[in-house]
Amino acid sequence: MIVLDRVSKRYAGDVVALDDVSLRVGYGELVAIVGPSGSGKSTMLHLIGTLDRPSSGSVHLDGYDAANLSDRELSALRATRIGFVFQQFHLAPGVPVLDNVADGLLYSGVPRRRRRERAEAALARVGLGHRLGHRPHELSGGERQRVAVARAVVGEPAVLLADEPTGNLDSSSGAGVLELLHDLHRAGTTVVVITHDREIAESLPRQVRMRDGAVRHDSAFAPGGVG
Ligand code: ADP
Repeated sequence: MIVLDRVSKRYAGDVVALDDVSLRVGYGELVAIVGPSGSGKSTMLHLIGTLDRPSSGSVHLDGYDAANLSDRELSALRATRIGFVFQQFHLAPGVPVLDNVADGLLYSGVPRRRRRERAEAALARVGLGHRLGHRPHELSGGERQRVAVARAVVGEPAVLLADEPTGNLDSSSGAGVLELLHDLHRAGTTVVVITHDREIAESLPRQVRMRDGAVRHDSAFAPGGVG
């Protein structure tokens, strides 16, 4: 599903955010990316999500070599195959939850009415079928993040990329969001989640530990837990 081959990412001023990283994530895996702040986790997630291009090395997603696609083709790839969830929810303020989620299908060619039907189903799936008309500020943090997850999966992406999705939540709301990620995984979605939270990381089937822009430990190759 995801193949990073010898990927490096450098920023201006000699910052090496990723240094020769190789990683394979298979279809249907649920993977935690862990590591200290600045270790390259978000950079790696952005490259996997084709939001950015590597300085060197290659990124393959669902069989596509990102380097062979134009920006327009990458946008289409993201719209149809990738869902994103961020720590800050990124919902449109003042816009009802149903439309926030339906807008996740804006670039997919689905007609408006069908977008709203699918949004309703996605909200029911995250346990918010009774909150369709609420605006984001009328919801708790945990509910907002569930809306964000609904928006990310309304297009039925093959892969869900989540950057600290529980970072702004209390532990019980965080547990609810984590349970959603498990549900999606059980339904066959490939899920990659960045987390600072050791307990969350250890509850996931595979942990990839980053440090100084490199993968320092991958539990897939060293069974026995987080090293
Ligand atoms: P993490 O997600 O593990 O906290 P990041 O991937 O955000 O780490 O950052 C890795 C390194 O790259 C850090 O040193 C960070 O300062 C640097 N970095 C990230 N994004 C940029 C950018 N757009 N421009 C310059 N440096 C960046």
